[in-house]
Amino acid sequence: MSERIAVYPGSFDPVTYGHLDILQRGLSVFDQIIIAVLNNSSKNPLFTVEERVDLLKKATAHLDSVTVDSFEGLLVDYVQKKKVGIVLRGLRAISDFEYELQIAAINKSLNPKIETCFMMTSNHYSFLSSSMVKEAAMYGGSVHELVPEPVEKALVHKFGKRSSV
Ligand code: ADP
Repeated sequence: MSERIAVYPGSFDPVTYGHLDILQRGLSVFDQIIIAVLNNSSKNPLFTVEERVDLLKKATAHLDSVTVDSFEGLLVDYVQKKKVGIVLRGLRAISDFEYELQIAAINKSLNPKIETCFMMTSNHYSFLSSSMVKEAAMYGGSVHELVPEPVEKALVHKFGKRSSV
């Protein structure tokens, strides 16, 4: 039987435990997952694509079936180049649904052979987003419970540490 491979695309600016939860659960459905970091300078990311890839590699080092890559341009072109038929995305709230529906519909019209597969967030991470993590870290809040250690360190490096008054 051929291997079931999915591409998990996103900004991952930076990776959170919410992303990792989807990844971990995705591995119960797919044999291999390629995390594809979107090189999206237009979104004005906090971390460069190289930094985001590096943090993802550190955060997934224990997962043999996961590889980390980056891409520019259309997701459907990247997915086709990798000879993969499935895109994995996570769904949090209703607000995610509308956005994800649009992307999935556009991708489907660009390449009808590619399917998008959604996994629901775990309740525990339903509130968690990269932007929330950045906001918290920027104002010196602890993000220890929200992101893996290398990400926490990288955020402290970017924003500095709050003095323990
Ligand atoms: P994008 O800019 O493409 O939305 P993100 O890095 O924000 O990139 O998200 C990548 C994917 O991970 C998206 O499908 C998003 O819905 C999902 N995701 C992000 N955070 C969570 C979370 N806490 N629980 C479940 N899925 C999540």
